[in-house]
Amino acid sequence: MPTSTTIQLNGKEVAVPTGIFLDNEWRDAADSSTFEVLNPANGQPIATVAHAKQADVDAAVASSRKAFKSTWGLHAGPEERARLLNKLADLMERDIQFLAELESLNGGKGVRIARDMDLADSIACLRYYAGWAGKVAGETIETSSTKLAYTLLEPIGVCGQIIPWNYPVMMWAWKIAPALAAGCTIVMKPSELTPLTALALCNLIAEAGYPAGVVNVVPGLGTTAGAAIAEHLKIDKVAFTGSVATGRRIMEAAAKSNLKKVTLELGGKSPSLVFPSADLEEAANWSALGIFYNSGQDCTAGSRILVHEDVHDAFVEKFAEKARACAIGNPLDESTSFGPLISGPQRDKVLGYIAAGTEQGATIVTGGKKWQEDNGGFYIEPTILTGCKPGMKVVDEEIFGPVCSIIKFSSEEEAIEMANDSIYGLAAGCFTSDAKQAMRVSRGLSAGTVWVNNYGLLSNAVPFGGMRQSGIGRELGRQGVYEYCSSKSVLHNIGEELS
Ligand code: NAD
Repeated sequence: MPTSTTIQLNGKEVAVPTGIFLDNEWRDAADSSTFEVLNPANGQPIATVAHAKQADVDAAVASSRKAFKSTWGLHAGPEERARLLNKLADLMERDIQFLAELESLNGGKGVRIARDMDLADSIACLRYYAGWAGKVAGETIETSSTKLAYTLLEPIGVCGQIIPWNYPVMMWAWKIAPALAAGCTIVMKPSELTPLTALALCNLIAEAGYPAGVVNVVPGLGTTAGAAIAEHLKIDKVAFTGSVATGRRIMEAAAKSNLKKVTLELGGKSPSLVFPSADLEEAANWSALGIFYNSGQDCTAGSRILVHEDVHDAFVEKFAEKARACAIGNPLDESTSFGPLISGPQRDKVLGYIAAGTEQGATIVTGGKKWQEDNGGFYIEPTILTGCKPGMKVVDEEIFGPVCSIIKFSSEEEAIEMANDSIYGLAAGCFTSDAKQAMRVSRGLSAGTVWVNNYGLLSNAVPFGGMRQSGIGRELGRQGVYEYCSSKSVLHNIGEELS
């Protein structure tokens, strides 16, 4: 099978890689098998991609291990690691329009958002971690006058990185940047639904000058390439973003194989609280961003909005206006902000949740069905449900689509209790103009991130991750790079004699 193909991108013919990226070169799968990648905006095939399986993952791990021992790991100094990350960021900036169009075509997000948000943030993430390459440091520890003790923070080794389809480039950057800054080598598996940008970025990795084997990319299915990474005896850490069910399988595989370190960024059912003193216009704006951004396919989607009974109707009216104003359309149009869902099964799952919501007593305020002009694409209208209560499927379970459940409350205590009553704990929001209430509620909410008078603001410098079943470990910020380091304690004898 050829390891690249020509596709139509915004009226132009462009070549995109479709192979396995190993030792800075392209190759076919060992058994020559492939899988097909679809355009979610019309359901049509875009490309046929090599399907990596156990033998390919074994080859990628061997290559990454060799690179770790010879050219990377403790062999590439911090200046070199920073230089290459900045160089990769420069190349992404040069190719930003192409990468954004490819991301939009494969993942269905509006091209302007792909370029100005996802790509721009990913480039900034590489630069942010370039800055950390020389700043990861251990400590000297006072023990006794006859000893000198210190810790060295060393790169963990070969890291498996398994990423989802909702933010293909951003999740690539969040994984690759801290790992490369720390000195780890990588075997990356992009989602089988959205492998094209991760593969296109491999050409930039080679062009930037990374030594062969520092980053290998194995496109494939979760049950083949993904499972082979999770079970691998020669992988030292696996970093995963995706569903709780898969996170559980990965932990189990790690436990049963070599007890590799596992970090997990999983799902959410994030609550947002709207209090009577809130600026309702602003609360409606941020709430719409919180649930309808990326068509609701966001782990931090603000999918449960708890609204005080005194402002419930006024808030719902404003919020529904914002939902109706979402710019639905062809992802490759600059004006589109709301694209299709990623796949037919995902669209049907979301429609099933909407049906379950109305069967259990919720009322559809707006949306609730496939978008009328869908042309074979997987679109669903932005949907708001009122009259929701804990215990309903739409309130308790992650939907991963543009569906928001509104729940009324009458006291702050009741709202916090309902907000925290979830297996998840990824994020939460709070809208109030009472500063003391904002602080009280932020402390009361049990989530990895709490947004006050906004929803969804992220920064590469601020740690991100979940409590409870939303995950283990943190990405971004200082913690993000430390997750890729092992601490070695060194104790020197400077005066003690045994004889
Ligand atoms: P998923 O778990 O189905 O797939 C994620 C990745 O895991 C894909 O690359 C997939 O191929 C791979 N995979 C699947 N089965 C595997 C297995 N047995 N072993 C190893 N790898 C396997 O998730 P998804 O549907 O792609 O993504 C949506 C989910 O991701 C949602 O639940 C969402 O909340 C979560 N998510 C979380 C975050 C976060 O940061 N917390 C970010 C984005 C998405």
